[in-house]
This record gives sequence, C-alpha cells and structure tokens, in this order.
Amino acid sequence: MAGFTTRTIHALENVEQGAVTPPIYAASTFLQPTEGGEGEYEYQRGGNPTRDNAQQTLAALENATHAFLYATGMAATAAALGTLRAGESVIMSLPVYGGNYRFATIELPKRGVEHRFVNDPNALTDEDFDDSVAMVFLETPSNPTLRVADIQRIADLAHRNGAVLVVDNTFLTPYLQRPLDLGADMTVQSATKYLAGHGDLLGGVAATNDEALAEELFKAQLISGGVLSPIDSYRLLQNVKTLALRVDRQQENARRVIEAIQDHPAVSRIHTPGSYSAEETEIQIRQADGPGAVFSMEIADGKNIQAFLGALKVFGFAVSLGGIESLLCLPASMTQGAYSEKDLVTAEISENLVRVAVGIEDAEDLISDLVGALDAA
Ligand code: PLP
Repeated sequence: MAGFTTRTIHALENVEQGAVTPPIYAASTFLQPTEGGEGEYEYQRGGNPTRDNAQQTLAALENATHAFLYATGMAATAAALGTLRAGESVIMSLPVYGGNYRFATIELPKRGVEHRFVNDPNALTDEDFDDSVAMVFLETPSNPTLRVADIQRIADLAHRNGAVLVVDNTFLTPYLQRPLDLGADMTVQSATKYLAGHGDLLGGVAATNDEALAEELFKAQLISGGVLSPIDSYRLLQNVKTLALRVDRQQENARRVIEAIQDHPAVSRIHTPGSYSAEETEIQIRQADGPGAVFSMEIADGKNIQAFLGALKVFGFAVSLGGIESLLCLPASMTQGAYSEKDLVTAEISENLVRVAVGIEDAEDLISDLVGALDAA
C-alpha cells in the first residue's frame, strides 16, 4: 500500500480529463433518467461527487472501507452516538471534549440512552459491561488532559461483551494513530481541526469497516441532513493533502515549546500524551506514531493567568486546535464549560489549566511569546 502522504494526494481514482485537482460539483440535485431507473446521484443530501471524493480520500487514510462527512465534528459524533437505541447505554471516557460531554448528558437521555463516564478506561473489566452496554466511546489522547486509553485492549473487551468501540481521533488524526487497525469499529473526528487545518471551515468525519455501521452513518447523512457542502468538501480534500507536512512541523514546534517552558516557575505541570503514568506512556508509544501538537499546562498557584493571557502576542486566546495558527484556551470555562463541578474535579480540569495547540509559526517566535507571557504571569 502506498505511504500516507501519497494516499492523501493520489487516493482518488476518478479524476476527469487529467485534472490534477478534482472539480467541484455544486449541484443540489441531479437529473434522473426519464425512461426509469436511477441516476448515480439523485439529491445532494444523499450523495454528491465532491463529497464522495473527499470521503474516498479520508477512508483511504483511515484504512476504512467507508468514510462519511458531516457539517461539523459534532454532527459526526451525533451520527456515531445516534446508532444507540433506547434501553442501550454507552461507556464514555472522561474527560472528553465538552461537546461530546454535552451530547451524552443532554441529548442521550432524551433518547432513553444511558451513559456512564469512566475516568480511567484502561481499568475497565468485563464486570463493567452489563447487557445494556452497546458502545464504548473513547477520546485518546483526551481533550484537554491528554490521558491515553489502550484502544486494542478496550476493543477486545468491548467485542467480548457485545459492544462496539468508537474512538474520537481528532487530536492525532490517522497520520499518527489508526484506531480501526487496532480493532476499533468506528472513528470520528472533527475535520475542523488538523484535517482541514487552516481555521476556516467546520467539518466532521466518521469512518468504519463495518457494513451495518456504515449503513447507519449514511442514513445519518440522508435522514438528519447535516452533510458537508461540496465547496467545503473540496476545500477539505485540498487541505488534507498537506496534513503530514503540517503535523510534522506542529509536532516539532510543540516539542521545542515544551522543552523551553517545562522548568519555568510559572508552570507547575505539563500534560502530554503518556505523561500521566508509566502505563499510559507505554500504551501511547505502542499505539501512536507521535504525540501530536496539543499539550496542556497548569499555571502555578499564585501566578496571574490574566496577566499571562494579556501578554501573548503570537498565540491567540481562542477555542479550537489543529490549525496552522497557535491557539490556547482555558478548558474549565471554555471547551469544558458544560461540565458539572463534580466532573471537572474528577477529570482534573482546574481553572488554571491551559490547553495549548501549537501551529506552524517559527518555533523561536512561539517560544519567546510563551516564555515572555509566563514571565509576566
Ligand atoms: N471532538 C473533539 C476531540 C474536539 O476537540 C472537537 C472540537 O473541539 C469536536 C469533537 C467537535 O468538533 P466541531 O467543533 O467540528 O463540531
């Protein structure tokens, strides 16, 4: 099989007239044969050649037979969690992105689906699975504390107990981690982040090798209708071609930034994938090809976070991650603002935790910006 970046550029088989970039089919509807039968495409919600092109490429990157694009990452998560039926339940790792938390705590109860958060999914055993558990939903590394869960072990455990494993792979992307190869049944990602990578489009993708799940994910497009538009599908397809280049640079920048600030007196702790425990270090090294470019840090007690934020000139203070621009945010009040007080404590998300998403700027500029702001704290 061709290498990852070769596939990002050449996975498409049906590019017309030798064009090196595929065309954009903006059509909302497609003419049907008047003599009966069905055309290849009918109406954009159910299928569109441009969306298909992007889906085909993303499936090739995930080693999946099927990938489905939605209007946002949350729409992809909604499609995944939407496969659960009344009376079933899901075990979800904690922390998860605040939107995933919100879906579990607000939307699933309306559908008669129960959820149970687990702080250490690596400690799950057969006893955690009663007959209702139909899905385990993991984020690894987790947003924002970078906790690592053992995909292979939890996939085996879930399957032994009649449940499927869904992994939110937003932080590492298939460039660095391929959950389906490790036994997961489905991946979801916010394509808004690394896949699109330029802070200018929202999108989500769900991928699977399972025909029954693929049918449900397709129906989520057709029935709920939250599909990615042809223009955004095209832009995503173009942007993803530089995914490996961007992630390599972001990862190297993150490594250098962490090295520069780790002993700073204003930083009391740094979280990276695997930093939580020796067990998680081993899992992370075994299942991923790199740590990615998101880390979080705790600002030491007595330091002034507002002064720190106010002194930043290169890092933007905003939610989101995975773009070419470096951003940081305060998860407790921003991305994880929907959490209950109790779950914030359980997930170890304190008010002085800062999530840092490193971009592709020059490392020297990022380092002097962050060190300067920490000095001001
Ligand atoms: N999953 C993770 C891990 C995220 O960080 C996010 C957004 O930050 C989402 C899902 C949701 O994606 P979107 O904002 O594209 O709906």
